[in-house]
Amino acid sequence: MLRLLAFLLLFILVVPILRVLLGAVARALHDLVSGPAARGGRRQAAGGRLHRDPVCGVYVSEQVAVRREAGGETLYFCSEECARKYGRA
Ligand SMILES: [Zn+2]
Repeated sequence: MLRLLAFLLLFILVVPILRVLLGAVARALHDLVSGPAARGGRRQAAGGRLHRDPVCGVYVSEQVAVRREAGGETLYFCSEECARKYGRA
């Protein structure tokens, strides 16, 4: 009987902890999949404004992005390779 009580107590303690952990993992996965900009209102990241790479769809900070001027607007790419691909497309 005492064993059952101990098990129940453990269960009661562990379930909320697991739920918090799973919630954190789910949120982290969601951020990975949709990107920080998808949450809306949080486009201002620590590394500066985020811009979408038109080639691979990745969000890049304008501080580290590869820039290309095209038709009066600035395009931001994650890498030289993507900028080159865009030029060829
Ligand atoms: Zn790219």
